[in-house]
Amino acid sequence: MPLPRPLAIISHPHYLAHDTGGGEHPETPSRISSLLAKLKASPFREQLTFFEPRRAERHWLTTFHDEHYLFRLEESALSGKTYLDHPDNQLCFDSYEAALLSAGAGLTGIDLLEDKENLVFCAVRPPGHHAEANLALGFCFLNNCVLAARYWQQQYGRKRILILDFDAHHGNGIQSGFEEDPEVFYLSLHEHPTFSFPGSGYAEETGTGPGRGATLNIPLPPGADDQMVLNAITRRIEPALAAFGPERIIVAAGFDGHRADDMSGLAYSTALYGKLGEYLADWAQRYCQGKLLSILEGGYHLESLGESAASYLNALSNHSTEE
Ligand SMILES: [Zn+2]
Repeated sequence: MPLPRPLAIISHPHYLAHDTGGGEHPETPSRISSLLAKLKASPFREQLTFFEPRRAERHWLTTFHDEHYLFRLEESALSGKTYLDHPDNQLCFDSYEAALLSAGAGLTGIDLLEDKENLVFCAVRPPGHHAEANLALGFCFLNNCVLAARYWQQQYGRKRILILDFDAHHGNGIQSGFEEDPEVFYLSLHEHPTFSFPGSGYAEETGTGPGRGATLNIPLPPGADDQMVLNAITRRIEPALAAFGPERIIVAAGFDGHRADDMSGLAYSTALYGKLGEYLADWAQRYCQGKLLSILEGGYHLESLGESAASYLNALSNHSTEE
């Protein structure tokens, strides 16, 4: 494939209207505005095409979330409540619409991938990987990655999906969505749950029932650096991928493991996200005809969020793949 490869970026101005109350809350509109500004000034800006998402339709939301929860979320936002389920999960009148557009980005991205795009990055908020079927958690309301995987399976018949989550935190909602499902493999690298939110993601959690073996949690100690991640890739992740053989890969792309980001004790460098991009470009080529969907999760230190995402996307666009 000729280099560099084009990148489709999905984002929406309404993501900025999701107001988390100002003050000390780390999940701010400026995460998206500064990230997009960084991409638009990047050396690979010529490769970028920008798209807007649709709203995720109700019948896709209910492939994971309970009807009652969806009403509770909508009613909380529209009636002027300031949070849902826990004060961490701040919302405002516009938050329901923002959440629908955040979940919809993955669906729009999959439509683009099943048409002629190869690399799609969803620059969205609110994030999704902590959201449970009936619970808002960790700034998340709708589980964007779970809904994308269900859509890929049910709309396009792509059955074997890998969700690789490199956010600093365990994606408890993704794990619970697919714990019993042998066809969606959830693989998460995160700070050890003894030290970190949300307190799940122990190595012993490997799936249940028919899904046993289709969950791989790799908890890392506080202070874990690039080399520990690279070792985990060669020793654990590559063999797991080869054994599973994904038809499609979704990346829960959180950048809060960066050493400058105080939301975790991990100590990743900006360059590590470039290495992750190189591996993912290779895996997309080897398993998925070059197709890859990445959905933003965390990342709260604005400068390192922008630089890390740019490093990741630059590698996706420019890395010479092995095959
Ligand atoms: Zn996180």
